[in-house]
Amino acid sequence: MKFTLNTVTKCSGRLGLWNGLERLPNVALQTPGLIFHTKGGSVPHVSKEVLQQLSSAPQFLQMSISNTIHMQEAVQGCQKTLGEFVAQNDAVSMLVLRDPSEVPVSGVPERDAVPIYTRCGRRTVKVDAYMRLVETFQPDLYVPLYDGDTELGCSKKREQKSVERTETLVQECLEWHRKSEKLSGHHTSLIAPVVGGYSEKLREKAIEWLRQTEHDFAGYLIEGLHTYDPSLVSRITSETILPIVTPVCKALPEERVRLCFGAYDPTVVLELVSAGVDVFDTSYVYLKAAQQHRALIFSFNVSAPEAEEQQESSQHTTELDTTDTRWAEDFSPLLAGCSCYTCQKHSKAYVHHLYNTREMLGPILLMIHNLHHYMEFFKTIRHHVAQDTLPQLREHLSLQRTLPPYVEKEDKKQAIPMGRKEATPPEEPAVDLEEKLAKKQRS
Ligand SMILES: [Zn+2]
Repeated sequence: MKFTLNTVTKCSGRLGLWNGLERLPNVALQTPGLIFHTKGGSVPHVSKEVLQQLSSAPQFLQMSISNTIHMQEAVQGCQKTLGEFVAQNDAVSMLVLRDPSEVPVSGVPERDAVPIYTRCGRRTVKVDAYMRLVETFQPDLYVPLYDGDTELGCSKKREQKSVERTETLVQECLEWHRKSEKLSGHHTSLIAPVVGGYSEKLREKAIEWLRQTEHDFAGYLIEGLHTYDPSLVSRITSETILPIVTPVCKALPEERVRLCFGAYDPTVVLELVSAGVDVFDTSYVYLKAAQQHRALIFSFNVSAPEAEEQQESSQHTTELDTTDTRWAEDFSPLLAGCSCYTCQKHSKAYVHHLYNTREMLGPILLMIHNLHHYMEFFKTIRHHVAQDTLPQLREHLSLQRTLPPYVEKEDKKQAIPMGRKEATPPEEPAVDLEEKLAKKQRS
């Protein structure tokens, strides 16, 4: 695959185009852009047809081995690729190790194996098993095995280990890839994992090593900033992440695409775009819609007078909690002016009712709205990058009020009668990431 860099701005990041896949020559991703997060090869709660209505452009799909590894035997048996098996062959498939919406299960790291978290629990994968899986699935893009379990606050020794183990694992995967007829015949490309935790020096070392075999990689995946626990990732601040991501992007070759996956807050996404990251994923949308029952309603129209008025009166929040009983009799759409199917056809009251009765249509309607809103947000990001006015959008977003962090309600299965208020759940102990960083710096 080929990445074409079109514009590099002074303070708003860069614009590019990622395309050139021989199998799908018309498929192209405008960057900054989105790759769709999937479970088992499909976007959760959204059928392929609904997704096509949301986005007419051909899609890039992120498929994690956590929720596809159980298909290996079936895919092998019918001699198809994973894309063909899940009827997504008209999209670019990218195989990654972790699902950004999964919660990691703790365990002792092994020297030559990488943990993944499947629906049957924690499993470890070694190079030979992983590369056989890649040969069976034949994705268009994949990331070699790596050790990126270095969240904020982990020890220096752990970060050092992650770089050393990643070098060994990537080297072994590369050797297998070069010899494999199945992979070279199918034109499968590799994405290099950039690890090194929160150490600038180790990141430099990791990039230096990867650049020795630069021509083997179609792009770079910035890893090792978290362990993918979505509740923690969404609380990572730009002050924490930028001092690492900015020098990483500067050290990476300009003509290669840079990816960064995880359910980051939209304000952090904007900072990452400014730093030079090109591709993100939609796990944030899924996290909000399906796990937290929240609609994304943050405003990204910097010139809309009504948005300014709403902000001034502190009424405009970035999300709408559909579980809140205040919406029980509100027949307005989730977001006024939104052109998505959910907002055109349904009301806050109906989506709230669907939550109360635990109807499966609830997360479906929320996914449709949230995906639409997030894709429009990325269109606006590209517009602001082209004008070099991303800081303006960042400021506009930072002025909006956020809801308190989501707390899972205890009794999820029992339906709550309409109009009855649920007991206020206890405050979730907030994990202070800044404190962790300060502690790490002191040590
Ligand atoms: Zn909508």
